[in-house]
Amino acid sequence: MNEEEKLEFKERARNEISSLAVDIQSLENDTQPISPDVSLGRLTRMDAIQNKSVAEANLASARSRQQRIQARLEELDSPDFQKCRKCGKDIPAARILYLLDADTCLECASN
Ligand SMILES: [Zn+2]
Repeated sequence: MNEEEKLEFKERARNEISSLAVDIQSLENDTQPISPDVSLGRLTRMDAIQNKSVAEANLASARSRQQRIQARLEELDSPDFQKCRKCGKDIPAARILYLLDADTCLECASN
């Protein structure tokens, strides 16, 4: 990637990390233990439990995406940054800029 693409990656990655941080904070609120007074009715409590488990899954995936992007950001200046982790070929800059956490080429990712 050229310097301009690297700068763009930095900016996009940082924006995505902050926007994930906002999501994570709100998901953390949604994954608080359900207090016993959420017992307006059986369905309501079951809904609350189900929403909580959806929020937990989303929280885990937001956290892991945030960590992957953070790790990619730290690797940006490494000579291997753009190399596919599996086959060693160059990953197109557009793919990296779009996905932000891509560390494999399209072929390896789809196999
Ligand atoms: Zn590959």
